[in-house]
Amino acid sequence: MQKLQELLEELSNAHGISGYEGSICEIMKRELGPFCDEMRVDKMGNLIATRKGKADAPSVMVASHMDEIGLMVKYIDDNGFLNFVTVGGFFSQTLLNQRVVVHTTNGPIVGVIGSKPPHVMKEEDKKNPVKIDDMFVDVGAKNHDDAISLGVDIGTPMSIDRDFKVMKNDLVTGKAFDNRAGCAMLIEAMRQISEMDVDATIYAVGTVQEEVGLKGARTSAFGLNPDVALATDVTIPGDHPGITKKDASVSIGKGPVLTVVDAAGRGIMVPPSILKWLTGTAKDKGIAYQLDVGDGGTTDATSIHMTREGIPTGVLSVATRYIHSPVEVLDMNDLKASAKLIAESVASVGKYF
Ligand code: ZN
Repeated sequence: MQKLQELLEELSNAHGISGYEGSICEIMKRELGPFCDEMRVDKMGNLIATRKGKADAPSVMVASHMDEIGLMVKYIDDNGFLNFVTVGGFFSQTLLNQRVVVHTTNGPIVGVIGSKPPHVMKEEDKKNPVKIDDMFVDVGAKNHDDAISLGVDIGTPMSIDRDFKVMKNDLVTGKAFDNRAGCAMLIEAMRQISEMDVDATIYAVGTVQEEVGLKGARTSAFGLNPDVALATDVTIPGDHPGITKKDASVSIGKGPVLTVVDAAGRGIMVPPSILKWLTGTAKDKGIAYQLDVGDGGTTDATSIHMTREGIPTGVLSVATRYIHSPVEVLDMNDLKASAKLIAESVASVGKYF
């Protein structure tokens, strides 16, 4: 499991907000290369790694989005402070006083999201959440022109700077487990498949811009037109204070999560044929799993299954605490079991489709 943890660490510490997934794509290429026959990056920036199978066997697309939520410079004020928009769904208060990496044309530089010290806050200020509009990034620039000379401009992407750490009981914490956890399990699944006897053609796809509208998944699925597809992602467990099992019934440490429905059906209603395939394989191979009916977020599967005349698609997720924050937490045993279930499901797809 050490190798898988190191892979997650590298992917989590790397930076790639929606639309700027290049450095994640490079890691994926390096790791997937040995297990695939062909690799290319399409016009949108999706990485498509193909492992060819037998001509009469089904083709399976396994998608993991490479992007993470982040920030983008909207305005540089006269004093060199940067106003920004969020790219993807942050709760504003998780951003206050974070350290960020500002990806300038001259390379990455350090920034911080500053705030008014409590000493000078009025009672009113303390009660009201700070609006993103009122937040700013300080990169140490002397003024507007100095910021420009540092390589900052309107449109410069920024990401949260938070290092991966190991916690107790096989738990780990870091930023962007959404969805570098999916990227890590896709790579590990492809490694396992390379040592198995698998007939299916597999398209291992690192998709772009999931967090801003499931975009790369839509175009890559259209181009590949697979018989079956699987999206990998993270999902919300209801196992910590502030949330109940009624809000989210799954827990960390209890195995891969198979989506039945997400966004109360407005996202995807996973077809029974897909559920039979994934749960049947899990039972055959003795892999514990959890079923999930969600009413909040959704995944790449939502755009894949609506492609062309419809592609049967499932979602396999790792339960992850505090998602869309810089301190996401997951259980490495879940990640390992998820990779195994992907590999075994790809191997068994011919029995079901
Ligand atoms: Zn995600």
